[in-house]
Amino acid sequence: MYQQQPYQQPLTNPGVMPGNPLQVVPRARPLFRGGTHAAQNGIRGYYDECCCGMRPGTGPNVPPHWLDGGHGWATAHFFDVEPFDFNLQTPGRHQCKYCNFVADGEEGCCGKGACWCPLGLAPFKMVDHLAANHGLVAPPMRDWATSCTDTEGLCDACFCWQCQASRQINAAHGYINQLNPFWCLYFTCAGGRHHDHSGQEVHVGCHCMAAFLTRQSIKQLNRIDEDCCTTLAMSICCPICSLAQTYREFSASGVWPGGICVGDAPPMIAMNNPPANWAPPMAVQPQTGGYQKVY
Ligand SMILES: [Zn+2]
Repeated sequence: MYQQQPYQQPLTNPGVMPGNPLQVVPRARPLFRGGTHAAQNGIRGYYDECCCGMRPGTGPNVPPHWLDGGHGWATAHFFDVEPFDFNLQTPGRHQCKYCNFVADGEEGCCGKGACWCPLGLAPFKMVDHLAANHGLVAPPMRDWATSCTDTEGLCDACFCWQCQASRQINAAHGYINQLNPFWCLYFTCAGGRHHDHSGQEVHVGCHCMAAFLTRQSIKQLNRIDEDCCTTLAMSICCPICSLAQTYREFSASGVWPGGICVGDAPPMIAMNNPPANWAPPMAVQPQTGGYQKVY
């Protein structure tokens, strides 16, 4: 007879004896620069307390390789001495697994209280330390899985871009094939006004902002080799093509955003230079029972 197993809290900081690098311990969970706008913070589940749907927190389908996004790869070589915590106002202290070096997150000069401001400097210190003392460098960057001129997903990006962008924001938080009504409405209502050739005032939705947010997120999470100027230029000059390209990139990562015109199954797209633990998009996605954070 089937018996339900009790939910087990994942070990976050079991402690480790310094000088015993072979002991397997979880990776550190520092705050990254950029707060809510850093995709690396989103997948680590710092902002899961809001009920408006704007910050969905860590979903059930976060691909493991996303934890290596940006400077995230360095966190596998550290463990938490004191976890970063908004509620306790601790900026986080994280120790190297191979020596006694501690990278701390630091906090702003206003002190504790309502305006407490964590700086998120630990990941930078980790990267510097690993390079200088252990000869460890960042894994190679990737190119986009598909060119920006491909057409897969273009229909949704063109005719229902608010809906598609909101789906991609959910995908960046680890949710497959899910519309986010809040972001959909926001992208529709936010934006600017301009006068057309007949002097009529018209509302212009913010395609560019939607394209920039999604492009910046997936660029960080998949370690895509693209500089900020190109990201900005693509978002401003060609937001529709950019939304279609990021749709394909999320799909290749195993977190399919879904859409109206894209059918009911993820497209077969392979990641460029895929990580060792990459799962092809058509593979059955493992679903864990209940809500579980990924560290
Ligand atoms: Zn070290």
